[in-house]
Amino acid sequence: MIRTGSDSDLVLKPDVCIVGSGPGGAMVAARLARAGAKVVVLEEGGYHRKDEFDMQEATAFPLLYQDRGNRATADLSISVLQGRAVGGGTVVNWTTSYRTPDDVLAYWRDHFGLALTPSDLRPHFEEVEQRLGIQKVDLEDTNANNRAIYDGCTKMGWQVDTTKRNVRGCLRTGYCGMGCPVDAKQSATLTYLPDAVAAGADVYANCRVSRIEW
Ligand SMILES: Cc1cc2nc3c(=O)[nH]c(=O)nc-3n(C[C@H](O)[C@H](O)[C@H](O)COP(=O)(O)OP(=O)(O)OC[C@H]3O[C@@H](n4cnc5c(N)ncnc54)[C@H](O)[C@@H]3O)c2cc1C
Repeated sequence: MIRTGSDSDLVLKPDVCIVGSGPGGAMVAARLARAGAKVVVLEEGGYHRKDEFDMQEATAFPLLYQDRGNRATADLSISVLQGRAVGGGTVVNWTTSYRTPDDVLAYWRDHFGLALTPSDLRPHFEEVEQRLGIQKVDLEDTNANNRAIYDGCTKMGWQVDTTKRNVRGCLRTGYCGMGCPVDAKQSATLTYLPDAVAAGADVYANCRVSRIEW
């Protein structure tokens, strides 16, 4: 169940407590709950759905972003956009969905000893792509500015391709960053978190973790 509040203090005794309900937390929650663990997910952001997404920055930034969209590095030189909601960044991200490139996996293997090969990961990528409806964008569906970049790259002889996105029934309004008003974006809120809940996990929204003791 996804809970948004409680009238009294709660004492919960799960097998696993996950802090944050973005794609990382949601995937782990779904996997562990399906494997039989009692899972609780604690999320500091709210549980927001499509009816609240009016494609206005004035609505979306305070509702769906850390620091109302003003998060930045300590010296303020770089802004750090980060989601803050049930579903984390997947509620506001732009849906570009790539497999981890082979050369990045090789770098991780050589520098960090992470033994994940493209063939190890292929079945997992395929499963995620299926669950999230990830598909390559048709060239005919690109807008004029992206088409100009595509044509320019082609003329230069550079490698160019359309992107892959995790959407079903996208209306291409271009407002992904404000939350999808038609639930086309296959966010964690619509996919792996419901999977986790269906397997018995509990998600607590509006619940910031401020201290961990052990
Ligand atoms: C505007 C935008 C566009 C993006 N576009 C793309 C894209 O097109 N393609 C792509 O691959 N990636 C994109 N990203 C990046 C992608 O969304 C992130 O890499 C991804 O969401 C990270 O997942 P995560 O689970 O690690 O963390 P997050 O998604 O950041 O989730 C962390 C969650 O933890 C919660 N949390 C944090 N601290 C606490 C606490 N103390 N207690 C309780 N809860 C807490 C946060 O509220 C948040 O919901 C985009 C990100 C943004 C912000």
